[in-house]
Amino acid sequence: MGKVVKYKLNGVEREALEGRLVIEAAKDVGVEIPHYCYHPALGNPGNCRMCVVEVAGAPKPQASCRTGVREGMVVSSDSEAAKRAQTSALELHLVNHPLDCPVCDQSGECGLQDYYMKIGRYQSSVREDKEHKDKRIVAGPHVMLDQERCILCTRCTRFVDNVTKTHELGIFGMGHSERIDVTPGMSLDNAYSGNVVDVCPVGALTDRDFRYKVRVWYLDKTDSICPGCSRGCSISVHANTSRPWHNDGKRVARLKPRFNPAVNGHWMCDDGRYGFSNLDADRLGKVLRLTPQKTELTWDAMAAELADVLWSAGEGLAVVASGMLSNEDWAAYKSLFLDALSVKRHYFAPEPDQVGAEDELLRKRDKVPNLKGAEALGLKSGSFGELAEELEAGKIKTLYVIERDLTRIFGERAQALQSKAGITILQGPNKYALGDSFAYRLPATAYVEEEGCFTNFEGKIGAYKKALAPIGDSKPDWEIFGLLQKALSGAKQRAAAA
Ligand code: SF4
Ligand code: SF4
Repeated sequence: MGKVVKYKLNGVEREALEGRLVIEAAKDVGVEIPHYCYHPALGNPGNCRMCVVEVAGAPKPQASCRTGVREGMVVSSDSEAAKRAQTSALELHLVNHPLDCPVCDQSGECGLQDYYMKIGRYQSSVREDKEHKDKRIVAGPHVMLDQERCILCTRCTRFVDNVTKTHELGIFGMGHSERIDVTPGMSLDNAYSGNVVDVCPVGALTDRDFRYKVRVWYLDKTDSICPGCSRGCSISVHANTSRPWHNDGKRVARLKPRFNPAVNGHWMCDDGRYGFSNLDADRLGKVLRLTPQKTELTWDAMAAELADVLWSAGEGLAVVASGMLSNEDWAAYKSLFLDALSVKRHYFAPEPDQVGAEDELLRKRDKVPNLKGAEALGLKSGSFGELAEELEAGKIKTLYVIERDLTRIFGERAQALQSKAGITILQGPNKYALGDSFAYRLPATAYVEEEGCFTNFEGKIGAYKKALAPIGDSKPDWEIFGLLQKALSGAKQRAAAA
């Protein structure tokens, strides 16, 4: 713990740790100093000159991102001199900036627009033509670069130099022709490339997936957790429920990282960021019995019918579950399948394509969010090889599959193995490849349609909130397990009376 010093900010006596950057010390007490190049995770080159403040005794305005707090210091971020310096810096940034706001994706969340309205509103003294640069550079699979809009803050180059260390972007040229460009022979296709869009304070780097789909002021933002791997990054779901036609009919328009110093800092990976495209595809919405013919049931009728099926299955019941289940789902799962039905056969290990690339930044090997939640309840997964043998041997009377695609577990053998089980039940948000060949289908909500918690690989619990309405009659998995458990008493009575 460093020394606490007293200083004055905008006329008010404050305390801060000695040496704390003035821009951060001000933020701590709710005073926002305008800035572009400074980013807490990317350093403080001090090149944008937007964060200049007046420091008593200093001969000229000082960059607050490069000035530490000292005992007795007197700082003004809102004095006439400070404001004049900030406005002049903004005017310089806008000298060559194109008037793209009506078509720019950043419009509505742009640092230039925001600061112009807060500290700008000057009479422009620029009379020269604007410098034109390349406006449509495909920087990589996910990112477009518009050089004209760039204000050369260097946040993006610092991200690829210092965070991913992949160096795909750089500053080229000199003077008025200086520009950000893709390093010759490279493409911006590292596993975290989408983060440059987030750090760019203007519309120079935009998301190819999101470009021209929806204006940002139509988006509803909900705190969530990425289910893409066991890191469990904190994210924000940006949904476009009122105007899905602006976004190819998709309700989720984009995912953005949410700052969480204990889990993901400011970042998320591209797999997680762009992994929502199938969210609305092939969804189950109705409670169905599919044999001998397709019949729609109410949840209560289904629960009563399935309670008989599950109770009568005895030791012949096997459950294939998923690391996508929340802690709440796992608790209800345990209560139903272990405590009430004493099921011995549980299979929830990741399938081969749920194990993937891992790195030192964020990505973890297991591509499901919550195997730890099952572990915490003492649940252990059997091996799928063993399940295949038991199916082949005709030992499985009832196969209950939750949020899993059997073709991804058993490959070409999946259909044949599934047909060996007497009764098959599919529960989940999606139909998956074999969804039409189950005897029962129970629609479950996707993670964006419910609230719950995941426990990440380090045992940290992250909560996610409901961003969207459920599709059709779908319910959270824990609620479905609860309905079945409640219906079990009737099944037991019927079995005893038979
Ligand atoms: S592209 Fe964006 S982040 Fe990169 S230097 Fe330009 S303004 Fe800054
Ligand atoms: S690291 Fe994992 S949890 Fe984080 S964004 Fe990527 S896939 Fe999602």
